Amino acid sequence: MKLLTGILSIFSATILVVETTSADTQVEPVIALEMLRTQEQQFEQTIVQVADNVFTAVGFHGANTSMIVGTDGVIIVDTLMGPGSAAKTFEALRAYSNKPVKAIIYTHNHPDHTGGSTIFAGDLLPDIYAMESFSSDAGVDDAVTPVGNRRGARQFGRSLPQSDITNRGVAPANTFDGDRSQGFLPPTILVPFDGLSAEIAGIDVEFHFAPGETDDALFIWLPEEKVLFTGDNFYSSFPNLYAIRGSAYRNVLNWSDSVARMASFKPGAVVPGHTMPILGESDATNALNDYSRAIRSVYDQTIEGINAGKSPEQIAHEVVLPENLKEKPYLLEFYGTVPNAVRAIYTGLLGWFDGNPTTLNPLEPRIRAQKVAELAGGTQKLSEQMQSALADKDFQWALELSDHVKWLDDGDRQLARKVKIEALRGLGAMEYNAPNRNYYLSYANELESGQLSGLWF
Ligand SMILES: [Zn+2]
Repeated sequence: MKLLTGILSIFSATILVVETTSADTQVEPVIALEMLRTQEQQFEQTIVQVADNVFTAVGFHGANTSMIVGTDGVIIVDTLMGPGSAAKTFEALRAYSNKPVKAIIYTHNHPDHTGGSTIFAGDLLPDIYAMESFSSDAGVDDAVTPVGNRRGARQFGRSLPQSDITNRGVAPANTFDGDRSQGFLPPTILVPFDGLSAEIAGIDVEFHFAPGETDDALFIWLPEEKVLFTGDNFYSSFPNLYAIRGSAYRNVLNWSDSVARMASFKPGAVVPGHTMPILGESDATNALNDYSRAIRSVYDQTIEGINAGKSPEQIAHEVVLPENLKEKPYLLEFYGTVPNAVRAIYTGLLGWFDGNPTTLNPLEPRIRAQKVAELAGGTQKLSEQMQSALADKDFQWALELSDHVKWLDDGDRQLARKVKIEALRGLGAMEYNAPNRNYYLSYANELESGQLSGLWF
């Protein structure tokens, strides 16, 4: 509750002070930093006792890992990024039980949840449970891996200097990722789509299919302990319905439905894939219901806009979370954002064409830039507008004008690059959405160090 009040007082203070923004996740730089620092309480390194026999390790790497203690053994839920992070976490969890590992459960295939299994398994060959669709969703198509890797590094701020680093929205920065997936073990028991109940180490465990962030996601329900493990379909931030590193369409409607089904169990504790567990039936159940409704509301508003013939950009600037949801701490846009979700839903359902024939064959960027320059009264005038936009801290407009100037043969490309770098830094400083912030700042650094050459800026 203290955390909630803290964030909200910061949040409401922002409305008065910021004049020119291009997204509602942009606030005064000092406020953005304060909000990101506050969010870090969600993934400080700690072990939370979720129930008498359930322990969750938070902040040891990007994701959470949990240990359920049974009569003659323990069950591990998710195994972090690699052997390094798994080893230090397992050692910490061992303070609570030394019983042998009887089973490992993967909530979904992502490497931050599956890469350290060898450490937990040792020589014991435990059963490893995952959905029967495990790894059906590998994220970005291999054909675009080169650009996917570059964009991923920007989103997570992997190459940022220490002075620019904050966090990753639902995970700390500076995690050791060098041994990614090196301790992965394949599943040995596949959970069918209609679910599975099992008794493992004397513990009743239910597995439920829960498509959302991935099509191979499941949630785990312990009926005796009333603990629910959500995987990455729930964490303390508006969900990342679209990842700016580049991701295929994540079925938003399924995601909302999956979280609603979790809420129907009325759990006494919810263990997210990232960020702190939520304890107590009322708080845990309300959080899941709110989360499901928030996703559903963004979807419904987007559909309404689509069927009214609006463009994705127009809808992205119109859709907002309902009043009773938008200030919930677990719906603040530290990781996913509402406008990015709207654009993803639009593209996921209809593809790139917005229905307006003007956009069927738009002008080539170079020609458009020439015409914009003419409209401005010449290249020199356009350049001056670009500089005054920057001076006025109208950063998005400065970016857009710099992208025109760069195409012009008589344009000052060095100046356009310089303006773009400064505008990106200006936007980055204002963002409390971690992926956006990291992306702006990383791109600025790449431009400055000459990693992006030619006209690709
Ligand atoms: Zn994750």
